[in-house]
Amino acid sequence: MKRKLIAGNWKMNGSLAANEQLLKAILAGLGQPVCQVAVGVPAIYLSQCQTLLAGSAIELGAQDISAHESGAYTGEISGVMLKEFGVRYVIAGHSERRQYHGETDELVAAKVQRALGCGITPIVCVGETLAEREAGKTDEVVKRQLAAVIHANGHCISEIVVAYEPVWAIGTGKTATPDQAQQVHAVLRAQLKAASANADRIQILYGGSMNAANASALLAQPDINGGLIGGAALKAQDFLTIIAAAA
Ligand code: PEP
Repeated sequence: MKRKLIAGNWKMNGSLAANEQLLKAILAGLGQPVCQVAVGVPAIYLSQCQTLLAGSAIELGAQDISAHESGAYTGEISGVMLKEFGVRYVIAGHSERRQYHGETDELVAAKVQRALGCGITPIVCVGETLAEREAGKTDEVVKRQLAAVIHANGHCISEIVVAYEPVWAIGTGKTATPDQAQQVHAVLRAQLKAASANADRIQILYGGSMNAANASALLAQPDINGGLIGGAALKAQDFLTIIAAAA
């Protein structure tokens, strides 16, 4: 198994001044991290963050990628463009994109394919809504979402990162318990194992109100290999505490 990965998802937050302050504070407290660290920043700030992170232990991430290679797709950003700005990771299929931008399982799978083709590691988000959990459909939903990615990407899926993000836990302050999260991670691990001989080295992150107080217990679970962090990634000290918990 690789080292754990702690990845921040800044969502649509930040400004030139705030980004500089945040990254400088994180870098000042980081030292030599034992885990992998990344920040997923708004596309317009990739250049700024690439400069601020140059030579550091923090990798740069984007929050979305076009499924197309190039051409008449107004507003979209291609994998080749992301690569030019040093992007190492891209979040694919975040629930906010599935919910507000109509991203289907198939589109997410195509975006994953495009990222892999450009040498960018996709962080593939899967997760159930509260209604789906209450209807006992959690496993079915996450397996369906991941199956589309496996189907489109074949043996290349050993190069992806998966993030289990229960929709009801994102930005709500309600976290899955370590047991609840581990149960779903084990389901995802089994699905990956059935599809790839190298599934043991695929990092499966937990995301959904992970914070400085609950990170240790979540990250101690056998199939939780890191975290995708929203709100807490915008506070330098909280993000550093989560990174330390992944040691
Ligand atoms: C996310 O948006 O990926 C996320 C996990 O957000 P939060 O940590 O704020 O719940």
